[in-house]
Amino acid sequence: MNNESRRLPELFGSMVFDEETMKDRLSPACYKAWKKSVTDSTPLDISTANEIAEAMKQWAVDKGATHYTHWFQPMTGVTAEKHDSFIQPAGGGKVVMEFSGKELVRGESDASSFPSGGLRATFEARGYTAWDPTSFAFIKEKSLCIPTIFCSYSGHALDKKTPLLRSMDAVSKEAVRILRLFGNTTAKRVIAQVGSEQEYFLIDKEQYKKREDLIMTGRTLFGAKPPRGQELEDHYYGAIRPRVQAYMQDLDNELWKLGVLSKTKHNEVAPAQHEMAPIYTDANMACDQNQITMEIMKKVADRHGLVCLLHEKPFAGVNGSGKHDNWSLGTDSGENLFKPGSTPRENAQFLLFLTAFIKGVDEYQDMLRATVATPGNDHRLGAQEAPPAVVSIFMGEELSAVIDSIIDDTAYTNTGKRNLHIGVDTMPPIPMDNTDRNRTSPMAFTGNKFEFRMVGSSLSISGPNIVLNTMMAEELGKFADELEKSNDFHHDLNTLIRRELTAHKRIIFDGNGYDEAWIEEAKRRGLCNNISTVDALPAYITEKNIELFTSHAIYTRDEVFARYNIHVQNYTATISMEARTMIDMMRKEILPAVSMYGSQLCLGLERRKALGLPAKYEETNALNNCMLADCLSDACDKLERDLRIVPSDDEEAMRYCHTVIVPDMNECRSFADELETITSRDAWPIPVYSDLLFSEI
Ligand code: ADP
Ligand code: MG
Repeated sequence: MNNESRRLPELFGSMVFDEETMKDRLSPACYKAWKKSVTDSTPLDISTANEIAEAMKQWAVDKGATHYTHWFQPMTGVTAEKHDSFIQPAGGGKVVMEFSGKELVRGESDASSFPSGGLRATFEARGYTAWDPTSFAFIKEKSLCIPTIFCSYSGHALDKKTPLLRSMDAVSKEAVRILRLFGNTTAKRVIAQVGSEQEYFLIDKEQYKKREDLIMTGRTLFGAKPPRGQELEDHYYGAIRPRVQAYMQDLDNELWKLGVLSKTKHNEVAPAQHEMAPIYTDANMACDQNQITMEIMKKVADRHGLVCLLHEKPFAGVNGSGKHDNWSLGTDSGENLFKPGSTPRENAQFLLFLTAFIKGVDEYQDMLRATVATPGNDHRLGAQEAPPAVVSIFMGEELSAVIDSIIDDTAYTNTGKRNLHIGVDTMPPIPMDNTDRNRTSPMAFTGNKFEFRMVGSSLSISGPNIVLNTMMAEELGKFADELEKSNDFHHDLNTLIRRELTAHKRIIFDGNGYDEAWIEEAKRRGLCNNISTVDALPAYITEKNIELFTSHAIYTRDEVFARYNIHVQNYTATISMEARTMIDMMRKEILPAVSMYGSQLCLGLERRKALGLPAKYEETNALNNCMLADCLSDACDKLERDLRIVPSDDEEAMRYCHTVIVPDMNECRSFADELETITSRDAWPIPVYSDLLFSEI
């Protein structure tokens, strides 16, 4: 072990004001008060807040911090911060470093520049931020960052954290009711646990700087397929190149300091694509940490002369990036509720949680799809690399057989002997790590958790986890209502599980999700296939889904509409920005370059002809160049014209962008990409795919 690895335990979390540090630096009474407020979800009293603020400031100053900020997650999907220094005038031109409980628990912010989706009238520009004491403060760039929720003055959630916390409470409450039915009298809380794997691309910074599309939109809007893509399948898990290795090491160090349990790193399928997976934690912390991870990934890349791309589809023709949201429920004593057990009681309980999940995904498949609907993810879902746009659950052979035997009331074939009676029989062991892991399923059961694979790489994981938590709260609540009234628990449990599995088995699919035949089959089963964002977003505002969120007090009706509006507006904003960037690049880079190159070809042609020499190459090339340049110029004109008449109504604008602007852009791209293939390397004005994708290979 070298010094660095020896120091790791000390380094880990060194920039986090975590529980250990609090225990160290707070009075026992204060520490207890904090702990109580976290477990009971009650507000901190001001004297406790004052003591914590003082200790936090002292700790932060000891670590070199000069500022503090309430760190929050507005509905943009990225994080926001506004830094204040600790200094207070102390008379005589001197300052002292101060930070009060009031400043810790509550900050004010001008909310007017954050998207509110109509929740905040402009006269009510203020919002407030309130410390979320369940997530630890940390130091980043000499600033003490205090994870906070962000609300409008009227109390509406303007962020992604508040509803996540509400959904964690809701699922905890209903899950505890179920546990009581199974005789568990001790569990106080059930925790939604999440581990989110993060995919990303790394490219050379110098190349990046030459691409306006990457700078403006995070993805390439032009680029012909390179001679080599990912067909050799040699990048996945391949040896990591030294420069990338150095990046990953640096990244791990930074993440560890911030208490992020970065665990696994490897090369992904596409060239220049990589992945980082942390060890799972509670959903709130996991969401905060994923936001931190994305930010640090970009920052560290810069230090290595690299750029980290988190876009879902930076390059056409090779795999895009997603993040796998691994989700499960665990009790406060560490029992995983999705782990098949070894006693009949445990298995009955497992099957009930599993049934609730299956029912939830079936009933809210449209909503799960909507939470991952963004223009970036449209390039991914349904392409040959990512899950299809149809939501289904992969159970694996063993569990599917168990479910079938319950539904059909037939003998479970592996045991062969008797029919399974829930709560009486012990289920055969379900292999924890089934080897035939299905990579094409949007939602896969992987031993003791579900892996939701539709999430785009740049998205906040808050939205999907809110839906997973809330749908579970809904189903578990309904089950508890029914079973709490039962006089014959085992009989009624059996009936309920059988009934619900029968009703919702259509959502289970163990086959190949990329297969065309599956899309047909899914249609026959009546499953949703919302192919694009435009098809998917309306799920937000169906009465069924509004009822789900309002009945569990996750969102008010207004809060639901606010989120819907923001996503609708974001679609148009993103597509329009991409279109404008395209026009700019065509007008200022691509068209001038191909025109110049064309002239060069014509000049050569003229000279050769004058000398009576053969000039077939020049002639064909000049002709192709001129024809394609005209096509490109026409396509560019059309895009520009269509962009001028985007409807003013938000929903109409979104649909218009989808049906008019996106096809216009595809048309431009196809001509430009063809031109690229017939233009000399020197004459092409921007780095091409092989420059971008293979600089580190
Ligand atoms: P892969 O899917 O690449 O094979 P793993 O299955 O080992 O990787 O884990 C993927 C992620 O799932 C990791 O972030 C891991 O911490 C997380 N994970 C493991 N167990 C659970 C669980 N019970 N609940 C939530 N996440 C989990
Ligand atoms: Mg995975």
